[in-house]
Amino acid sequence: MQQPLDSDVLVIGAGPAGLALAISLGQAGLSVIVLDTQGRAALSAPKDDGREIALTHDSVALLKKLGIWPRLAAHEIGVIREAQVHDGGHARALLDFNAQRAGSGGGTGVLGWIVPNHALRRASFEVADALPALRIVCNAQTSQVRTLPSHAEVFFEAEPAPTGGDLRARLLVAADSRFSTTRRQLGIGADLHDFGRTMVVCRMQHAQPHGEVAHECFGYERTLAVLPLTGDASSVVLTADASAAAALMALPAADFTALVQRQFHDRLGRMAMAGERHAYPLVATYAHRFRSMRSALVGDAAVGMHPVTAHGYNLGLQGVGTLAGRVVQAHRAGQDIGAASLLAAYEATHRRHTRLIYHGTNAVAKLYADKRAPLRLLRQLVLEGAQRFPPLKAAITRQLTGHGPFGDTALAAPTSPST
Ligand SMILES: Cc1cc2nc3c(=O)[nH]c(=O)nc-3n(C[C@H](O)[C@H](O)[C@H](O)COP(=O)(O)OP(=O)(O)OC[C@H]3O[C@@H](n4cnc5c(N)ncnc54)[C@H](O)[C@@H]3O)c2cc1C
Repeated sequence: MQQPLDSDVLVIGAGPAGLALAISLGQAGLSVIVLDTQGRAALSAPKDDGREIALTHDSVALLKKLGIWPRLAAHEIGVIREAQVHDGGHARALLDFNAQRAGSGGGTGVLGWIVPNHALRRASFEVADALPALRIVCNAQTSQVRTLPSHAEVFFEAEPAPTGGDLRARLLVAADSRFSTTRRQLGIGADLHDFGRTMVVCRMQHAQPHGEVAHECFGYERTLAVLPLTGDASSVVLTADASAAAALMALPAADFTALVQRQFHDRLGRMAMAGERHAYPLVATYAHRFRSMRSALVGDAAVGMHPVTAHGYNLGLQGVGTLAGRVVQAHRAGQDIGAASLLAAYEATHRRHTRLIYHGTNAVAKLYADKRAPLRLLRQLVLEGAQRFPPLKAAITRQLTGHGPFGDTALAAPTSPST
């Protein structure tokens, strides 16, 4: 006789994407088990990892619907009203995006919001942990996943031993980062692009107000982004070749601060570090398939974006909305939630939403990392061309606010996107 199933869905990875999917399904009445290698303390109170996540209107609408947004503290939610792009040594912006002027952003005048990654993780964990239909297994090391026509199975070890074993469900979802081992165990390959560059991120206080303007300064040695947080604080993001980034990490705080101030032409006055520096080697990944038998990939496990266009988690949430919508629909209709046709439809939609922006982002990242003179000229022409061509600017602004050509306005978003 066949063993009963342990849950409707198994999710591997309790990161922000895996938890958003688990919450979407749990709130719709499906039973979900989430496994993560990390312990409960690390998942419930994640450490500051220096990442500040810019969120589109669609993402915020989904986070509100899931009950994650109200669990963020006011001081954790920054607003971006304008974004300016500077090239090389130019202090003047060559290109700027403003939701108000573009008539985008749903009348709020807001391009997007910005929230610390650890706060998103903490709030997601709180909501997931409180859902009766959802169980989180911490300290779980998956040794094998198996998918059969009838169900999917995960073998794992957990601490304290002997709490491991195997779990069975109708559908298995891999949400275990861009270097997903579950993806590999499912036999799904991925294209990997190592940019050979590293992002150094750090929170800084400053004397002058930022005016809720985000800046992207494409320098010839390193790129600098300065993103407005609440109060007189900004997230400083430097991107450089791996060896130069190692040197940036090792610089005394005063020298690091002076370098940032100089590259930013002292726009924010005197600056001071308000946190540790964190380094992220830049590797983008795109899975060859987003599904296999009774299994699907979400979040970075499906598409691991270069952070320059701030789309990784936004696309992850878009995929969560697409997959959850289809699974809940099938569940309510009494149909198979792991059916091949359902998973194929998810894959087709998510590929359509991500492919162009993934390759476009990689092209931009490569163009702006190249110091050769013809490419410097080309990027200046691109920026000036975009500034002088209002329809293109308006399209990019709509994309930033989550209502662009790649945006999925069908994403479940019944709540108002206003703050
Ligand atoms: C510097 C930086 C800035 C960024 N800025 C933005 C931004 O502005 N906007 C934006 O939208 N995105 C941004 N991103 C991207 C965003 O952080 C990611 O897209 C997002 O964190 C992906 O979430 P995830 O849940 O898919 O994966 P992760 O956050 O990687 O979480 C994966 C989870 O899986 C667990 N896990 C791993 N392996 C296993 C295993 N074998 N078994 C069980 N569990 C496992 C891990 O412990 C972790 O909890 C940025 C990224 C970086 C690096």
